[in-house]
Amino acid sequence: MSETVTNWAGNITYTAEELHRPHSLGALAALVADNTRVRVLGSGHSFNTIAEPGADGLLLSLAALPAEVDVDAAARTVRVGGGVRYAELARRLHGHGFALPNMASLPHISVAGSVATGTHGSGVGNGSLASAVREVEIVTADGSTVVIGQGDARFGGAVTSLGALGVVTALTLDVEPSFDVEQHVFAELPLAGLDVGTFETVMASAYSVSLFTDWRAPGFRQVWLKRRTDQPLPDFPWAAPATEKMHPVPGMPAVNCTEQFGVPGPWHERLPHFRAEFTPSSGAELQSEYLLPRPYALDALHALDSIRTTLAPVLQTCEVRTVAPDEQWLSPAYGRDTVALHFTWVEDTAAVLPVVGRLEEALDAFDARPHWGKVFTAPSAVLRGRYPRLDDFAALARRLDPQGKFANEFVRDVLSL
Ligand SMILES: Cc1cc2nc3c(=O)[nH]c(=O)nc-3n(C[C@H](O)[C@H](O)[C@H](O)COP(=O)(O)OP(=O)(O)OC[C@H]3O[C@@H](n4cnc5c(N)ncnc54)[C@H](O)[C@@H]3O)c2cc1C
Repeated sequence: MSETVTNWAGNITYTAEELHRPHSLGALAALVADNTRVRVLGSGHSFNTIAEPGADGLLLSLAALPAEVDVDAAARTVRVGGGVRYAELARRLHGHGFALPNMASLPHISVAGSVATGTHGSGVGNGSLASAVREVEIVTADGSTVVIGQGDARFGGAVTSLGALGVVTALTLDVEPSFDVEQHVFAELPLAGLDVGTFETVMASAYSVSLFTDWRAPGFRQVWLKRRTDQPLPDFPWAAPATEKMHPVPGMPAVNCTEQFGVPGPWHERLPHFRAEFTPSSGAELQSEYLLPRPYALDALHALDSIRTTLAPVLQTCEVRTVAPDEQWLSPAYGRDTVALHFTWVEDTAAVLPVVGRLEEALDAFDARPHWGKVFTAPSAVLRGRYPRLDDFAALARRLDPQGKFANEFVRDVLSL
């Protein structure tokens, strides 16, 4: 049977003629053992060839496996199957009275695929989604399962792994008691006059804060504050409250977005920007993102402002978030307080790529690490200088997968394998 398999955005068509969807872990292990090249496709929300198995490679989906979500209330953990998406996990977790510390902008993405690329939300105290993981179960090249937990010397490479170690069949995550969140949106925060201290105060003014701009003017069109109701209501004198419900992409319907105007609601219905039952973002787009040390934030924003006439024609929206440091060797937030500069581009690769190159030049002085799941052009030599534990990860990948069964072209290039 032949089928066309693409990513969510439709800009990547995988060479595999079939997406294999085993119904049992036994069948999955047999498929892995019997093939020489294997990659997993999660929910397909990456914008580059990270999941591409290569010619004659096997592309695997875990979507037909039972959607395991096992809460251990005493240990405050949840064990999640390798194909489960955040929307399903969050709904079931909340049903048990528990929460995840943070979510990305959308709940549509798979847990295993998200943590594999260092996916994150916002919040000066919130690490990337991988920082909630305490154990992973991986089917390795010979079909056997390896369990790597916190405390294991290999753990730093095991979660944000670009899919290069094997098939993640389950993850155990830390959870906390459920909490409520209110979302407050403000309009028009000028860049002029924003000093380092004010930027820090703005970004720390709520549990999760995002700034949005289309760079058609030097400043931010929208500021989204997500306040936990068990934390104080911030005074926010820097911008005026929005008078209507907003979507981060100008012109898109705000009904797709999670509730605003300070209406309290459960964590999983406020931490993402987009509602599970609607198309997230604009739906016709490419994305890029760069994560840099937070002390560089204001200088980097001025660098973006200086090229805004280059950015604006191909930009739908730019989002500024913060991420707390984490311990995953390949995480773009590894070891440093981070500011994340995200770009939702128009759906036109030929027009966008030169602008991405120009953007990377503008951010070159700021030690910017590209998001693994989005469009970037930085060559492996540049990445090598930006990820201090890249060689440790490459050594772990060689140990767990000596024949390179899970090393596709993207991974070989990044790791110089
Ligand atoms: C509309 C939209 C909004 C987004 N918002 C955010 C955001 O807020 N923050 C952010 O950081 N990113 C964001 N992203 C990027 C997205 O979170 C990442 O691309 C993420 O990796 C997507 O997860 P996925 O399951 O779709 O992964 P895929 O794209 O399917 O796969 C990503 C990688 O994980 C591997 N993988 C997947 N499952 C497994 C498994 N079970 N075992 C081993 N390897 C596996 C794949 O082989 C691949 O290497 C967004 C993307 C879109 C389309």
